[in-house]
Amino acid sequence: MIRSDKGYFGEFGGRYVPEILLPALTELEEMFEQLRDDPSFWQEYVGLCQEFSGRPTPLTPLRRLSKELGGAQIWLKREDLNHSGAHKVNNVLGQGLLVQRMGKKRVIAETGAGQHGLATAIMAARLGLQATIYMGADDIERQYSNVFWMRQLGSEVVGVETGNRTLKEALDEALRDWAASVEDTHYVLGTACGPAPFPELVSYFQSVISIEMKEQALAQIGRLPDEVVACVGGGSNAMGAFGAFLEDEEVKLVGVEAGGLSLKDGEHSVRMMANTGEPGIAQGYKTLFLQNDDGQLGDTHSIAAGLDYVGVSPILAHLSQTGRVVPEAASDKEVTEAFSLLMKTEGIIPALESSHGLAGGFKRAKTMRPDQHVIINLSGRGDKDIFNIAKAFPQPEWTEFLQREADRARELDAAKKGE
Ligand SMILES: *Cc1c(COP(=O)(O)O)cnc(C)c1O
Repeated sequence: MIRSDKGYFGEFGGRYVPEILLPALTELEEMFEQLRDDPSFWQEYVGLCQEFSGRPTPLTPLRRLSKELGGAQIWLKREDLNHSGAHKVNNVLGQGLLVQRMGKKRVIAETGAGQHGLATAIMAARLGLQATIYMGADDIERQYSNVFWMRQLGSEVVGVETGNRTLKEALDEALRDWAASVEDTHYVLGTACGPAPFPELVSYFQSVISIEMKEQALAQIGRLPDEVVACVGGGSNAMGAFGAFLEDEEVKLVGVEAGGLSLKDGEHSVRMMANTGEPGIAQGYKTLFLQNDDGQLGDTHSIAAGLDYVGVSPILAHLSQTGRVVPEAASDKEVTEAFSLLMKTEGIIPALESSHGLAGGFKRAKTMRPDQHVIINLSGRGDKDIFNIAKAFPQPEWTEFLQREADRARELDAAKKGE
């Protein structure tokens, strides 16, 4: 695994936060430094993942699909089979163990689409911690099923009404809470971004993915793969999939970002390719951010909520600059095609985020030889995306049904108001 130089990876990373948060970050860093090389801590972490989240996740060969594409042999690392359906649970379980070691009793988190909030709520319930999850008021409405489950799991979900009522405002509110509660509260960051030590710490826990992948490749393929491909939002599943291979120069590492509708400003979330992201400092760290002409954070778009982010892991920003990680982009259209192909030829329902990795991986595999091997990290399952995916594949009966329900709700509403 990669190690930072005092929190930096090349020019990226660092810790740009208000004074009041420094003691908590230093405490976390010291705890992490102590535990990261302690085999008994790693054993405890892997043990928790095994008994609670079904690890190790399988490495599944895509025999029919590889034959159909006619290139390299394609394999999927099945993070979709984790408890709660994605790789996010690995990171929160690890941070939960750190919280116990620090003797804290409460965790907070911010969440956009709700996946990280849900994972945090699950961890808190399992480990007996109190949890408060901040979420933009608009996101609460859009993602109500996640909100419902978080509350059933015993977490407090706080709607944030300020600004655009989405992730950015939820982040500000969570930081305000933390500044006032650092003594007994840990901030559970959901991806390999933010101030040091979070990028390194999250990558460390997620590296369980590539440690297993390597062992499985040796057992099932008989050698290391030629390429490992992962989608990149904040960068945690990609760092997890790449971590154990960084020193194996013969293994090409490919990170696929959200190409969206086009590479025009505001229509994508591609930060690592030439002429997209620019170095900048925001949200507590330095990385490649999408910025507009005035140097303000730019607008982003992705068909997948989890990839719709303006920054990227400083570790990946650095690795893409040094050439160790090859950045690629997949458009919304390529993503829905890859999604469909995987469903129909292999019977697996992928998350829209992960389908970016599929699109990028399929494209590369087609140009390779049948004796070569590509592993794609399937970061999560697609059940949560049903409404978004249905938009790409319209179903007349369902559309009519939803329209009727909406009309009925409006009539009821009008009747109530008339009372
Ligand atoms: C959140 C999420 C992502 C994006 O986050 P990373 O930190 O880049 O991994 C990707 N896939 C799925 C399924 C997610 O839920």
